[in-house]
Amino acid sequence: PTYEDFCVDGKKVVDYICDYVKDIAKRDVIDYSLKPNFLHSRLAKEMPVKGEKFDKIMTDFNRKIMPGVLNWMHPNFYAYFGAGNAYPSVIGEMLSSAISSVGFSWASCPSLTELEQIVLDWFAKALDLPPFYLSKTRNLSSIGGGAIQNSASDSIFAAMAAARHRAIKTLQDQDSDRDAPPSKYLPKLVCFASLNAHSSVEKAAKILMVKLYAVEPNQEDSMTAVALEKAIKETRDKGLVPFFVLSTAGTTGQSAFDDIEKIGNVCKKYPSIWFHVDGAYGGNSFIVPEMRHLKRGMALTDSFNVNPNKLLLTAFDCSCLWVKDMKTFLEAYIVGSVDIEDQISTGIVDLHNFGVPWSRRFRALKLYFMFRMYGLKALQDYIRRVIKVGEHFAQLVKADTRFRVKNKPILGLVCFRLVGKSDETRRMAALPSPVDRLNEILLKKLNETNSIHLIPSHAQGKYVIRFVANQENCSEEQVEKAWRLIQETATKVLSSSSP
Ligand code: PLP
Repeated sequence: PTYEDFCVDGKKVVDYICDYVKDIAKRDVIDYSLKPNFLHSRLAKEMPVKGEKFDKIMTDFNRKIMPGVLNWMHPNFYAYFGAGNAYPSVIGEMLSSAISSVGFSWASCPSLTELEQIVLDWFAKALDLPPFYLSKTRNLSSIGGGAIQNSASDSIFAAMAAARHRAIKTLQDQDSDRDAPPSKYLPKLVCFASLNAHSSVEKAAKILMVKLYAVEPNQEDSMTAVALEKAIKETRDKGLVPFFVLSTAGTTGQSAFDDIEKIGNVCKKYPSIWFHVDGAYGGNSFIVPEMRHLKRGMALTDSFNVNPNKLLLTAFDCSCLWVKDMKTFLEAYIVGSVDIEDQISTGIVDLHNFGVPWSRRFRALKLYFMFRMYGLKALQDYIRRVIKVGEHFAQLVKADTRFRVKNKPILGLVCFRLVGKSDETRRMAALPSPVDRLNEILLKKLNETNSIHLIPSHAQGKYVIRFVANQENCSEEQVEKAWRLIQETATKVLSSSSP
């Protein structure tokens, strides 16, 4: 295949993508009947020895692979957090792949390194983050700034690893045994996050071999400062060293926000603690002033991550991580003869020092095209629509007395639960775990229609069905249609669940 072929085939792909997006509502969201290994039986066991024609491969792609694709961009996809496929970000992806420059250092691709700083500064300002997160703001002897990571999990890992490095260094400095290895201190280190924090926190703690204290959330699914401080004191009484606190701005299961200001004030009392906020989903909402009360206290944080691919229309992957003190952060990652002072003094940090990967894609391009082609105003309008549509859906649920809303539906995410009418509830009481089971059945029946996709969660201690309306074109009419299907299916489920 040559680039002359690409001129022809590439255009066909763009046409395919445009048709896919235009007609997506005509497809099923999902084929719920698919079983694992479905694709193995459809495709060849070996790669072809001789290259094949593009058109033939495209036909196979369409007939064999696409049927197993869960259509995340479908208007009736309400599972997980809807992803983004806004075309400015797709263009950024195309250019990044085609240019294919690898940006591990400034010299390896100057524009890649600098554009990443520039778009992260633009974004930090649009989110109204503290100035110390901007790349050229000097904090005492260091600078702050950000870089794009593959995923929120990577961002959280990167922050926790830097915090662990700082904590071990402090313990080593205090130790009379000057030759003690870093591993000596690992059993002492403990980090804290809500039980509702994403499992990537547990994964990071596991890989980094530190203890995780999962703090019990309150009735509204948020971690409170009181519960956190109690947990910190408990661990300190045992001789452990709290080194990292993660609070979540928009939990995965419930879109609950921890109180950053109160938690930050607790963290400030303990100098050994690095305070990180995971705003993978909810952090995007700070782009509108009316959501900024939820980020009060951000000045108390040491690092922050947000994924525009979860709530700002941008194609995956795109997790923005900012750190306040770049020098401390870099110390965890710098190897070989890299001079930190040199990096700090130029204000240009080579990206291979910003976390685990050496090579970096030109991911900033997708944010560059997104931010320029939409502009701040359109992105704000989109967030406001997500909020409005979510509130509208919650109202629909509340209007049907057979259902309960089990979270604060402030950001397009509604956790609801079918409880049945009182007589139905009595009948259901004869079933083993009645209401949970009823909701499991309802969810299965809905997904089996192939025309809607939802997943379960837990909110306020209950099994719930989780509905997220964050499509680019999400609308009140669209969720009303989905709600009618949910109501009809619930009626059928209730009438068939006899004692
Ligand atoms: N943090 C939160 C709040 C999330 O909701 C998620 C995933 O949905 C993650 C972290 C992990 O994100 P990623 O898939 O980018 O690693």
